[in-house]
Amino acid sequence: MPERLFVCTPSKLGTFVDCPRRYRYSYVDRPTPPKGPPWAHNSLGASVHTALKNWYALAADRRTPVALAGLLRPTWVREGYRDVDQERAAYKQAQHWLEGYAASLDPGEEPLGVERVVATKTSVLAFNGRADRIDGRDGEAVIVDYKTGRNGLDADDARGSQALALYAWAAQRVFRRPCHRVELHHLPTGTIAAHEHTEDSLARQVRRAEETAGDIMAAERAVSGGADADAEFPTNPGVLCGWCDFRKVCPAGQEVPAKEPWAAVEHLGS
Ligand code: SF4
Repeated sequence: MPERLFVCTPSKLGTFVDCPRRYRYSYVDRPTPPKGPPWAHNSLGASVHTALKNWYALAADRRTPVALAGLLRPTWVREGYRDVDQERAAYKQAQHWLEGYAASLDPGEEPLGVERVVATKTSVLAFNGRADRIDGRDGEAVIVDYKTGRNGLDADDARGSQALALYAWAAQRVFRRPCHRVELHHLPTGTIAAHEHTEDSLARQVRRAEETAGDIMAAERAVSGGADADAEFPTNPGVLCGWCDFRKVCPAGQEVPAKEPWAAVEHLGS
C-alpha cells in the first residue's frame, strides 16, 4: 500500500521544527490542551491583514489610503491588549501603517490572488497554504507576505522562509507560470525584504519540508505503536516558550517566565 500523503500547511511544518512537543499539543493530542490567553500582537496582525484583504475587494477607484485606514475599524480584533489606552495606541499606529503602505501601492494593479489558498502535492506531501497576496509581474507570480512585528526584516529572512518558498513552489503549479520572487512587506517601517529563488533553492525547501513530514509521520507511527509520546515529541525549551500557547501545560515551558499577552505591542505606546 502506498503511504498516505502528509497533509500540511507551512505553519504545521514550522511548528514541528520549532518544537515537536508544541506540534503534539496543537495537532495530535485530542482534546487539545488548554491554551493561554489571546495575544495582542496576533490581534493586531489579523486586523491589519483583514483590512488589506477588504481593500483589494473594493473597486480600484475606491482604493485610497484613507479607505484602507477606514477599513480597520469594522474588523478590528480587540483581544489581548492590557487596557483600552494600549489598544487605542495600537489602533492609531495600525491606521498610520496602512495609510503609508497604501500610498506605496498602485490601486489599479489587480493581484493574482489575495489571501489565496494555493495547494499542490509531491510524493510525500499534500501542501496547502494561504498566501497574503500573490502579484503578477512581468509574466511571473510574486509572493507577498505582510509583517507587523516590531523588528524590521532583511533579505536573509525572505531567503530563509520555508513558508514563502513553499507558496512560490505551489503558486508555479496553480498559476502555471514561474514564481521565484518572494517578498516580506514590513508595514511599520514601510520596507520590503525580497529574495529571488532558483528552481534549485525551491526544490531544496520542498525536500526539507518532505523530511520534516517524514519525521512527523515516523513519530506519529511510533506513538500509535505504543511508544512514549513524550519521547517521540520532545520539548525544545528556549525563548519561544515565553510566547507559547501551551506554556502552562508543558513541563519545560513552566520553567520559562511567562510573557504578558500584550508584551509584543508595548513599544507602540499608550
Ligand atoms: S512551552 Fe516551550 S517546550 Fe513547551 S511546547 Fe511550548 S515551545 Fe515547546
